[in-house]
Amino acid sequence: MLARGAALLEGVMAGTAYDIVIVGGGAAGIATAASLLKRRPQLGIAVVEPAETHYYQPGWTMVGAGVFDRAATAHSMASAMPPGATWIKTPAAEFDPDRNEVVLANGERLAYRVLVAAPGLKLDWDGVEGLRETLGKNGVTSNYSFDTAPYTWQLVQNLRSGRAIFTQPMMPIKCAGAPQKTMYLSCDRWLRDGRLKDIEVEFDLAGPVLFGVLAYVPALMEYVKKYGIALNFGARLTKVDGPARKAWFETVKDGAKTVVEKSFDMIHVCPPQTAPDFVRKSPLANAAGWVEVNEQSLQHVRYPNIFALGDVCSASNAKTAAAVRKQAPVVAVNVLRVLDGKAPNAAYDGYGSCPLTVERGKIVLAEFGYGGKLLPTFPKWLIEGTRPTALAWQLKANVLPSVYWKLMLRGHEWLARPKVLD
Ligand code: FAD
Repeated sequence: MLARGAALLEGVMAGTAYDIVIVGGGAAGIATAASLLKRRPQLGIAVVEPAETHYYQPGWTMVGAGVFDRAATAHSMASAMPPGATWIKTPAAEFDPDRNEVVLANGERLAYRVLVAAPGLKLDWDGVEGLRETLGKNGVTSNYSFDTAPYTWQLVQNLRSGRAIFTQPMMPIKCAGAPQKTMYLSCDRWLRDGRLKDIEVEFDLAGPVLFGVLAYVPALMEYVKKYGIALNFGARLTKVDGPARKAWFETVKDGAKTVVEKSFDMIHVCPPQTAPDFVRKSPLANAAGWVEVNEQSLQHVRYPNIFALGDVCSASNAKTAAAVRKQAPVVAVNVLRVLDGKAPNAAYDGYGSCPLTVERGKIVLAEFGYGGKLLPTFPKWLIEGTRPTALAWQLKANVLPSVYWKLMLRGHEWLARPKVLD
């Protein structure tokens, strides 16, 4: 299963600049660099990352609900970069896997023995007509951006009556639960303030289900009923006109397209999401654009000295930082095996987690792997994942941010020991 191993490095050019080049210094790139350097500090690792700031994106749901201060979700990239890694600040523009090189935006080439692709995904703000111009004003917001997550909270506090629309594009997206998490937290606030009765709330989803793993749906549906939310499946947001406070949704029934115009007082938009353009057009991509890896080893299916993890990889897990926490040690082990001329032997089980904030103080802690198999971290008596619990809220609000910054990004593999097959 994990095969495609030994003698993989034949053909890799002599005089290689780096043992490992990692493209992307987000959750996945930094966690992998840290895990590699913990195991073998003398490795020559370059991390290609143009951003000066590293974001803890899972915190943005809490920013949009007034629980976290936005500043707490951003640290300097310099402080996140593991000591011992070389930080290259020019973005990657191209992969040239046949020459074992990454081409940077300034035309420079970085040679590697092993490549780890982790540049995340592209939020396609232009995939909805008119969205970019109006985002962050006219009642149009999104927790998917550091800049606008605080505006969500502003809108929630100010809305007294009218219609609040929450949208979700086609899968896959990062943190598939995030569009509904903000909806529940907004409703909770309006309910507590006695305003919910005057606010018509609807959730327009491009897909056919509320959440992809059925075990969590009953608990979520209880909240949908409690808050009186109207669910519209198969409704894809195509256009927004902020000043006119109007949004257009496309539905397809029996092959026939219908476009429905809706007015809103507030709209929370989750943008369509794709692989980054330079990944989509590269030889690493599958037909859908994602870096095509073996689901267990996270090794590229055509280039054995290339691995991918995080949002950019083709594996069918939920695209979350929680998934990255488990993937990074697997990739670290397998990269070292390949550098040593051996086959990968660590396997990822598809674990991902989505803490569904159903009300302020309670979370349905969805944790699952490939095929929707439930993979709870904690025993049922402590956290029953399919039910809302206060302890899961404490975990998200008070524990996970530190796990991210202090453990995961520093190569401390808390509850993430990789499964080694031989
Ligand atoms: P990212 O962390 O996005 O990092 C990608 C990096 O690549 C960036 O630093 C970027 O600058 C860099 N990059 C891009 N292009 C290039 C290039 N050309 N060259 C070099 N570098 C490049 N996850 C959870 O586990 N739990 C949650 O509750 C949760 N909630 C979320 C809520 C929201 C609103 C959002 C937006 C996300 C949430 N997530 C959650 C998802 C989680 O944040 C992502 O899955 C995770 O950050 C993926 O890590 P990544 O490294 O693949 O991508």
